[in-house]
Amino acid sequence: ARTLRIGLIPGDGIGKEVIPAGRRILEALPASLGLKFEFVDLKAGWETFEQTGVALPEETVSVLKSDCDGALFGAVSSPTKAVKGYSSPIVALRKKLDLYANVRPVKTVVTAPKPIDMVIVRENTEDLYVKEEKTYDTPQGKVAEAIKRISQRASSRIATMAGEIALRRQKIRAGGAPSIHNGPLVTITHKSNVLSQTDGLFRSTAREALAAARFQDSGVAVEEQIVDSMVYKLFRQPEAYDVIVAPNLYGDILSDGAAALVGSLGLVPSANVGEGFAIGEPCHGSAPDIQGQGIANPIATLRSAALMLEFLNEEAAAAKIYAAVDGNLEEGKLLSPDLGGKATTEEVVQDVLRRL
Ligand code: NAD
Ligand code: MN
Repeated sequence: ARTLRIGLIPGDGIGKEVIPAGRRILEALPASLGLKFEFVDLKAGWETFEQTGVALPEETVSVLKSDCDGALFGAVSSPTKAVKGYSSPIVALRKKLDLYANVRPVKTVVTAPKPIDMVIVRENTEDLYVKEEKTYDTPQGKVAEAIKRISQRASSRIATMAGEIALRRQKIRAGGAPSIHNGPLVTITHKSNVLSQTDGLFRSTAREALAAARFQDSGVAVEEQIVDSMVYKLFRQPEAYDVIVAPNLYGDILSDGAAALVGSLGLVPSANVGEGFAIGEPCHGSAPDIQGQGIANPIATLRSAALMLEFLNEEAAAAKIYAAVDGNLEEGKLLSPDLGGKATTEEVVQDVLRRL
């Protein structure tokens, strides 16, 4: 049996209610999969900052680095005003662990009018997010500038990851999951008609990476789309997309927009992925408006746990969790209030565990 050590970082608010659900689903996976789990409780977030003066303790980083195969991160609250010394722990973790990809699957089961089953693969280290900005005075007033940096290396590895995800989705579907797509498809997003050098480099590098024999021989189709017309099509015809790969800023915007297509933030998972390491993270925040009521939807976290397993090469285990969650949504009897139901977090978890 393979033993996976998983760091658990609940954070703040409903993070503390949904991360235990993620732990339980991993523990409940059938023994026949040959997987064992060990969990390490780790701290980060606003409450940690208030107690210790740091939002991301050094110990959390070092334990993840030296002692864990993966992690689940809940959500953290951020102060409404800038607070000296506070900065977002998940942003810092992405940097410190070189989690260069942010992967967000967006999928409907029955809750939306259209079938949707796509994954947005967002480059997570460069583009405008290198945060090299400056402001200067001119006779006409202030001018501010920001650097948009695109490298061949980062573009190539993110496109390669998109191709691998496209292949893996085929495998998971072949295990019995229905598909709305004819075959694996990767859509490269850019604006190279205007930004011919930066987005031009992203586009040509991604094309080259996806032309590799292991993708082409397995029938991965590649297309490209300019980001603005992509937004239009994403809202009109979301069923057309399978895997989308994008530079950081476009990926950020597209992935939040796509999440809006499925009805509730409580359904949408994500993963921050680096070489041999993945952190599963629900897309929602700490939801102070419903915290402590036991009604947070745990599904985003359950799906994030499955997504983490995918990147730890445990596809069969991931597929089991996806199927159990889909079963709960399909039946529609035990849904949390954000989906129009009356079920508590605990009741949803119990129902998914039963289906597992
Ligand atoms: P939010 O995602 O916390 O909540 C938005 C709305 O969605 C709320 O009405 C909330 O009740 C609902 N919601 C979110 N998750 C849900 C779930 N699992 N089940 C049912 N309903 C759910 O976003 P916000 O209100 O803008 O931010 C609240 C706090 O979270 C802020 O401090 C913000 O900075 C932080 N935040 C953190 C992250 C993160 O840790 N990655 C992401 C977004 C926001
Ligand atoms: Mn965002």
